[in-house]
Amino acid sequence: MFFVVDHPCVRAKLSLLRDEATDSKHFREYVGEITCFIAYEALKNLETEEIPVKTPLCETTGCRIRNDVAIVPILRAGIGMLDGILKLVPDATVGFVGLERDHVTAEPKEYYCKLPAAGPDSLAVVVDPMLATGGSLAATVDVLKRNGFSRIVVITILAAPEGRDRMEQLHPDVKVYTGSLDAGLNEHKYILPGLGDAGDRIFGTL
Ligand code: URA
Repeated sequence: MFFVVDHPCVRAKLSLLRDEATDSKHFREYVGEITCFIAYEALKNLETEEIPVKTPLCETTGCRIRNDVAIVPILRAGIGMLDGILKLVPDATVGFVGLERDHVTAEPKEYYCKLPAAGPDSLAVVVDPMLATGGSLAATVDVLKRNGFSRIVVITILAAPEGRDRMEQLHPDVKVYTGSLDAGLNEHKYILPGLGDAGDRIFGTL
């Protein structure tokens, strides 16, 4: 249930994203563009329904997306991916989940959650640039499942094997799409080679 969107355009843009010389303005643009590429693949199983369309020449049959798509960025870095995915599904609703590390247990603890209602045709798309240990992502998926979402897809820009394995263990039903499976984590749980702190680079808080 883990998919690397391996495409020359994604690989080339990822290299620009990884480059420490890339400033926040360009970093945000590349995050948006890469999100679009990955979402294109991740959303390929959306269901459609037929609608009538009148072209200037005749009547024909078109389609619209049948699912209620809910985009769920994990605060704060996930916000950087929101505009990119909304380009593909502009009618999607948006929910937010914020997690922080519990000082006692060191486990992710929810401090903010605002989600759209889950319906029978809902698809929740979680966006977070970095799948490192997988702790926040697994906890976010827990939150979504508790709130009634049964179809969940994840989009990340980079992933580490540790995060992939944790997701496969805890949420084997959830598909994870990423731009690259990197080598691993360093002692501070940053992805290597990675791109540094995605939130800091998106928001210029280095
Ligand atoms: N979060 C980041 O922003 N970067 C990493 O490398 C890992 C987690």
